[in-house]
Amino acid sequence: MTPRILLLEDDPAIAGTVAFAFEREGWRVEQVLLVREAERSVRTAPPALAVLDVGLPDGNGLSLCRQWRADGDVRLRTLPVLMLTAQGEEIDRVLGLEAGADDYLAKPFSPRELVARVRALLRRSAWSPSAADVPLIDVDEAGQRALLAGQPLDLTRLELRLLQALWRAAGRIKSREALLAEVWGPDCEANDRTVDTHVKTLRAKLREQRPDLDPIVTHRGLGYALVLPPATASR
Ligand code: CA
Repeated sequence: MTPRILLLEDDPAIAGTVAFAFEREGWRVEQVLLVREAERSVRTAPPALAVLDVGLPDGNGLSLCRQWRADGDVRLRTLPVLMLTAQGEEIDRVLGLEAGADDYLAKPFSPRELVARVRALLRRSAWSPSAADVPLIDVDEAGQRALLAGQPLDLTRLELRLLQALWRAAGRIKSREALLAEVWGPDCEANDRTVDTHVKTLRAKLREQRPDLDPIVTHRGLGYALVLPPATASR
């Protein structure tokens, strides 16, 4: 598995240089220009690391980082963040670290230095091939059993099928309708509330085993998504 890096930078020249340098390292890069795009991305599937510019068309990278550090989702609180600060703006660097960034680099920077910093952060955040060997959630395709961080889960048949449906679409939102059709079948009498109830009990069982993780994310009005952060797989 390759680490995915979120790059929030509105200057196309800088973004292009950085993306090129990262991709040459074999990292996957998701480039966004707006704070709200970064927000949407991390909530759908947290990356292994985020590189944030400070001044952005619809907001500020520092506030975004500060917001993540106070988030209810532990994956955002612990997401490694590197801030790209403007040249010579000492205040930005101080604020960056105060906002909870793990590192910063002042513009203009050498792509090689950025790559070295990012590599160090990824290593520090326990990203390693061995960590990725134990998936956070694994469901055997026959649908007979599911493992959470290598430990078997004690699930009912429907909970197992529900987890399997979310797991197959990991990182993407599944609507209640899609879950009903896939898990309960097209002709059943179950409704949206049935889905919510089963998600609730499934969540409780996951939490019982791993209180530090909450991999099922509710997207209000849309449905549910299973989010599998590689960086927390072995913890
Ligand atoms: Ca900018």
